[in-house]
Amino acid sequence: MTALLEVEDLRVAYGKIEAVKGISFSIEEGQVVTLIGTNGAGKTTTLRTLSGLLKPTSGSVTFKGERIDGKQAHEIVQMGLAHSPEGRRIFARMTIEENLLLGAFLRRDQAGIQADIRHAYDLFPILGERRKQAAGTLSGGEQQMLAMGRALMSQPKLLMLDEPSMGLSPIMMQKIMSTITELRQGGMTILLVEQNAQAALSLADQGHVMEVGRISLSGTGADLLHDESVRKAYLGED
Ligand code: ATP
Repeated sequence: MTALLEVEDLRVAYGKIEAVKGISFSIEEGQVVTLIGTNGAGKTTTLRTLSGLLKPTSGSVTFKGERIDGKQAHEIVQMGLAHSPEGRRIFARMTIEENLLLGAFLRRDQAGIQADIRHAYDLFPILGERRKQAAGTLSGGEQQMLAMGRALMSQPKLLMLDEPSMGLSPIMMQKIMSTITELRQGGMTILLVEQNAQAALSLADQGHVMEVGRISLSGTGADLLHDESVRKAYLGED
């Protein structure tokens, strides 16, 4: 089986600083894959490169059998790769529904868009209840739901989530994690970047540990959860 996403020897630099130093990994359709690692390891840089916001210095990214590392961000969204960015980037003064519609800006199928809005409200009822309110009035966790809902509005084949649990209460975090599980059960393929290694590895099929721009360790979520070095470095154990 060919992978849905194939990253090969990817390098990305900010000027002279190389933030991603030759990483390779792949994602099969239907899998949840997580990248974990400390601040500055290069996780966000990797996602931004996959979605075409940064250009790699070398290496390749293949999505659905096609090279995408030279494509524009909007072309990549249109191919089915969506990105819910770190810090959520919602538009605070626009309503919740307007924010969701932004996620569908490349679509013309009005009936499908409306069906997907209803689907977002099924997934996150609070968004439906408050759809006419300014998005800035939502709590942090609710804004995270909105960011995920907006990414889903492009009907992605692969959904990339950058630190969805950041700054959330344990209850909100659980809600987000159970939504990820729900999406996966519906067949969505997900690339999840998380600082919360415990939560991410618990639901991931595959995990990769990033350290200063490289993948230092890979395995199934369960293997990494039980790995002694991972437990010490990322799960707060002595
Ligand atoms: P975090 O969880 O803190 O976002 P991360 O693993 O996602 O960490 P990146 O944000 O990808 O890490 O950062 C990787 C490296 O690239 C860091 O050393 C960071 O300082 C550097 N970096 C990130 N963005 C820029 C930028 N715009 N210009 C210069 N250096 C940058």
